[in-house]
Amino acid sequence: MIVSTDFSVAIAGAGLAGLCLAQYLTRAGIDVHVYEQDPGPFVRRQGYRIILDRYGLEALRESLPRHLYRLALATGDEPGGQLRFTDSRLRDAFTITFKDEPHATRQVDRLTLRSILQSGLDGRIHYSKAAVAVDNGDPARPQLRFADSGTAAATVVVGADGVGSALRKQLIPYADPATTPMVGIYGRSPLWQGGESVIPDALRTSGVLAIANRPGRAFFFTSMRFGERPPEAFARLAPGSYAPTGDDYVMWGLLLRQEEVPAVVRGDLRALRDLAARTSTDFHPLVRRLVDTAELDATVLNVFATGRRPRRWAVPRATMMGDAVHVMPPFGAQGGNTALRDAALLGRRLVEARTNGTPVEDAIAAYQDEMVPYAFRAVDTAARLMRRLTGDAAAPHWVLTRVLPRLHRVTVPEA
Ligand SMILES: Cc1cc2nc3c(=O)[nH]c(=O)nc-3n(C[C@H](O)[C@H](O)[C@H](O)COP(=O)(O)OP(=O)(O)OC[C@H]3O[C@@H](n4cnc5c(N)ncnc54)[C@H](O)[C@@H]3O)c2cc1C
Repeated sequence: MIVSTDFSVAIAGAGLAGLCLAQYLTRAGIDVHVYEQDPGPFVRRQGYRIILDRYGLEALRESLPRHLYRLALATGDEPGGQLRFTDSRLRDAFTITFKDEPHATRQVDRLTLRSILQSGLDGRIHYSKAAVAVDNGDPARPQLRFADSGTAAATVVVGADGVGSALRKQLIPYADPATTPMVGIYGRSPLWQGGESVIPDALRTSGVLAIANRPGRAFFFTSMRFGERPPEAFARLAPGSYAPTGDDYVMWGLLLRQEEVPAVVRGDLRALRDLAARTSTDFHPLVRRLVDTAELDATVLNVFATGRRPRRWAVPRATMMGDAVHVMPPFGAQGGNTALRDAALLGRRLVEARTNGTPVEDAIAAYQDEMVPYAFRAVDTAARLMRRLTGDAAAPHWVLTRVLPRLHRVTVPEA
């Protein structure tokens, strides 16, 4: 059994939320350990980019040592840019423009961010440790129990074990996420092909959501250009930490209905990519090129789900963060930002409790009371956006795909 002394925190899950909280607490001198079910840090391709909004960036700024926060900004894409809503032939319906400020919205590579979040946590992240439950025999020192029958005792236990959370089933058993009718097949394709960018200059700083004529089908893509290449930026700011190669890429996602993805295809990357290719034949040739040139091992199927509001946690000294408690469909780019926001908020409340002598149970309750309203506002917004953009409602769909695109000139001519 691993026993921590004084004020200590055990976290299940080394994803965005778990690692961000570990950084926060380590900076404050709190004894923290993270237990991750994967056998190592980079066993899965964390294949896509993530847009950090002001909450995500603020959480990182508050949690990370200064040089690591600078590293996140240095390797990120340039600030600003647009999100364009188009029809399937990439004719604009409308565009949202992001602020061009260094600390406003930034797109970062997820693998690079994860590597940054792991920096300096040597000896504090334990792999091949799948958490299964929290034992509450001694209410002052709950124990995280693992599938390999080991345990870790701490003052506070945190479930940051993602959408399939094992701890959720125990701490809020009534709150398994609701599935939605929609799924996404995600892929990644090289940005530079034959010495040229596959994304035309007009879309250089744009994310694009192309909505098909048929309701329930859409295609998203955006390019990720590293501001500074990770090997150089890490050598300068975090020497010794793992630096991804940092080749620019295009991340894309084909959104479709659950019933269009048969069960036999779900665990088969080649079959998933082939399905994406067949399903995107009506889209602009650029879309088809992205699917045709996708890297097979970066193909991912994501079944969209929405979390359910928790009441109190079943174990008073255990709590939850991120997708484990408030998963949301990836519309509006708020899932990861909300997870990071949780981590910084919980870190703040726990550090205050240790400093002021506030009962830990009160600190956890205060965190939950603050987290639930903002997190479930984000869940509701993401679910509403998903329904609006992919639902059957005839009038909005008709306006998006037939009326608005006719009012704009062609952005990407078809060769
Ligand atoms: C394609 C796509 C694009 C997205 N884009 C954006 C975006 O632009 N902006 C944004 O804000 N969000 C985005 N999101 C959402 C975002 O990725 C998630 O909300 C975020 O990763 C949640 O972080 P987390 O730490 O809660 O969970 P995760 O990052 O999923 O981490 C959970 C960790 O727990 C581990 N684990 C699981 N079970 C156990 C267990 N029993 N014991 C121990 N460890 C366990 C997992 O292996 C994993 O490492 C996107 C999601 C997808 C799918």
